[in-house]
Amino acid sequence: MSIRLVVAFSFLSVLGVAFSACSTPVAARPTWAIALHGGAGTLERSASVEQQQEHRVALERALQAGRERLQRGESALDVAEAVVRILEDDPHFNAGKGAVFNEKGEHELDASIMDGSTMACGAVAGVRTVKNPVSLARLVMEKTRHVLLMGEGAEQFATLVGVERVENTWFDTEYRRKVLQEVLEERKLKGSALGSARNAPRDPRHDYGTVGCVVRDQNGRLAAATSTGGLTGKRWGRVGDAPIVGAGNYADGIVAVSGTGTGEQFIRHTVARSIGARVQFGGQSLAEAANAVVHGVLRPDDGGIIAVDREGNLVASYNSTGMYRGLADSNGRFEVAIFEK
Ligand code: ASP
Repeated sequence: MSIRLVVAFSFLSVLGVAFSACSTPVAARPTWAIALHGGAGTLERSASVEQQQEHRVALERALQAGRERLQRGESALDVAEAVVRILEDDPHFNAGKGAVFNEKGEHELDASIMDGSTMACGAVAGVRTVKNPVSLARLVMEKTRHVLLMGEGAEQFATLVGVERVENTWFDTEYRRKVLQEVLEERKLKGSALGSARNAPRDPRHDYGTVGCVVRDQNGRLAAATSTGGLTGKRWGRVGDAPIVGAGNYADGIVAVSGTGTGEQFIRHTVARSIGARVQFGGQSLAEAANAVVHGVLRPDDGGIIAVDREGNLVASYNSTGMYRGLADSNGRFEVAIFEK
């Protein structure tokens, strides 16, 4: 080969390498990422297009608010709280306004919030007059040395810190009342004084709508928040997984997770923390860990989770008919879904 040919050849191959490097760009890590859920179980697939559309619009509105706050540089903790407040105020979801009824036809609300950058967390259980339980949970985190306040004590704390209060009936919606009647009828027919058997799966039609949000902010901090009215027809001061750190809500420096579904199952299997532990100690990716727990540990129809990791990877995994959810990041992702795509 002549010298000239060799030079020309090497020049072309350098160009080729440069070209192939440019033609397969590696997606940059997002600077922020957010996921929210509006509950697992969901409307039946047969739900009218209008009903589905209403829920999508509600999810989009909350996701859009979260996106704007993250673009402005707000902290993961502030964004998670703000987004959950929007979902609590929206009657489509089983949290705040629109919460399910307990057996007595009243509402008892559970919520928690966790700051992964400090491991600080706060929770409330069985509150009855607090308009936005997630914000009371945050105040438990910031203004007390405790993690979880329940019932009357949580109400007294609410008075002390001056959060917005409402009558218990303010949370009522006609739809949830109808569902309570169905549940009580069914209970009467089955003649069960204690409700369904200990391990019976919940009826996913009855309880969908718990809300949650997980966030990675521009500084790499993670946070998770979850809020719920619990299960329709619940009894005796029942508390679910939403206010139990590590069960229905969890954040540390590696992952943030929020769950929805049969709370008892999420508590038994410490679902949110298990997902984090698989990533931390088991070397699994966030998606592998989430799918292993949702599809391998929980039972079909138990529910699902949303999660984000410190790299900004987002996951929504569920084993129910669907899960109301929204995912967005700084790379332009913005999607809202109910069923499989
Ligand atoms: N996990 C909630 C609870 O058990 C209910 C739900 O997510 O639908 O209280």
